[in-house]
Amino acid sequence: MTKYIFITGGVVSSLGKGMASASIGALLKARGYKVRMRKMDPYLNLDPGTMSPYQHGEVFVTEDGAETDLDLGHYERFIGNFCHKTDSISGGRIYYNVLKKERRGDYLGATVQAIPHVTDEIKDFIKSDLTDEDFVLYEIGGTVGDIEGTLFLEAIRQYANQIGKENCLFLHLTLLPYIPTAGELKTKPTQHSVKQLQETGIQPQILLCRSQMMISDNERQKIALFCNIAPEDVIIALDADSIYKIPLQYHNEGLDERILHYFHMENAPEPDLTRWEKIVSVIGNWKGHVKIAVVGKYCSLLEAYKSLGEAIYHGGIFHKTKVDIKWIESDSLETMSKKELDETFSDIHGILVPGGFGNRGIEGKIIAEQYARENKIPFFGICLGMQTAVIESARHLLGIKDANSTEFSENCTPIVALMTEWVKNGEIQTRNKNTDVGGTMRLGAYPCKLKEGSLAAKLYETNDTIYERHRHRYEVSKKIVEQLETHGMIMSGVSPDGLLPEIVELKNHPFFIAVQFHPEFKSRAFDPHPLFKGFIDAAIKHQKKIIRE
Ligand code: GLN
Repeated sequence: MTKYIFITGGVVSSLGKGMASASIGALLKARGYKVRMRKMDPYLNLDPGTMSPYQHGEVFVTEDGAETDLDLGHYERFIGNFCHKTDSISGGRIYYNVLKKERRGDYLGATVQAIPHVTDEIKDFIKSDLTDEDFVLYEIGGTVGDIEGTLFLEAIRQYANQIGKENCLFLHLTLLPYIPTAGELKTKPTQHSVKQLQETGIQPQILLCRSQMMISDNERQKIALFCNIAPEDVIIALDADSIYKIPLQYHNEGLDERILHYFHMENAPEPDLTRWEKIVSVIGNWKGHVKIAVVGKYCSLLEAYKSLGEAIYHGGIFHKTKVDIKWIESDSLETMSKKELDETFSDIHGILVPGGFGNRGIEGKIIAEQYARENKIPFFGICLGMQTAVIESARHLLGIKDANSTEFSENCTPIVALMTEWVKNGEIQTRNKNTDVGGTMRLGAYPCKLKEGSLAAKLYETNDTIYERHRHRYEVSKKIVEQLETHGMIMSGVSPDGLLPEIVELKNHPFFIAVQFHPEFKSRAFDPHPLFKGFIDAAIKHQKKIIRE
């Protein structure tokens, strides 16, 4: 029988519930169990696809093309499995489904109510699309006490009651704040948070308490007494200096063992934690350092580049090299003199221009790309970073001064233009200017054919087809890439119909590659993505070259 673990958060937001959930999933997976991870976000957007990165951080794209919460990125990175469209839902989607059913007449004239109709819809999601998982983990977004979350808590309470409490575990993540003047960790906010959860009819069985320091036995007893649980089920989650240390830390605190104890699975196999031990040993013994400039648009909120930052770090793990990232707001480059640009990039071993939307900072990205191309600094462009790299080459190598994307300018020579047609699973998808913005991009995994002998084929170690995840509405003109061939540009990856450029690279450069997709979504610390491995390798070589000179 599948076991369900519901993870809620209390006291304050931003406690790292996603990381905590992913780490628990990783520990169960390490014992050989089949684990599935899901996220329920109470907000009313249908999905985070239309939300600003400043509001919500990164939009994580699944293989099957869902635009989801960034926590699904943590899940994939820690468990190693792909998440699916059906692994994430929002309050908005729940209400949308309920209202669609009401319009269809599915409720047979009943008054549609929060309970049972909305809670039933949530429970339908909980049990939907499951196969033979040993454990399914459900992270509930937000903090206990949020108005939007109420019906989600009610639904999981009902669900546990229906399928048997012995099959459901409620794990609550809280904070033990340290008050310096008193020199103490405080347990009261945790007590209040659990009380609030109990008011909804949910008794958490395990408390995971974020803390700066270990607690005394006395404090543990006190939390257990007031929160109605066993002292062994008060697990301390100490602040970690690397997220990759968390699974081992939780294991050492006995978290996975207490989960198995709750489900009466004491005879569970021992975990194989080798992959986590290896990573922790690398990050404690770096052999070198390189510095990468990420020239983006949302650099003041690094959550917006979550997967990207992780993928760069993974590339470093592969080479046992710590990568420091210099986050540069692209528009800051637009007013810089040549001398200032030289200073900005003087300590940089690689330049990466990531994905993005909208006009602001585009010229700055183009400046960074020209700088990388002309100064032979390793360059990696992703999605918008590929589009602007081709615009840069068109402007400065082909002399098309007004080369641009129709996303940014109506009166330009369109090097990048709105995609109106493409093929998905054998069917033609069509879009136009008036299409809704939500959920209509070219989304999810698409095949890409690699060109034999190219840098891309070398990095992927295949001349075959690869699959990468997309999230874009505009596309580089194939004709322009062909015109740029005389200047050393090659189209090293293309859609199977030969129409859509997926990867371009420059032959006369040590490492200049740009891709239309988002490789960062598929990188793992224990399985770094080939393009990030290659990019960091090039950065290390560039660093050596600078030292030699
Ligand atoms: N804004 C560009 C497009 O829609 C690039 C998108 C991205 O970088 N994800 O095509």
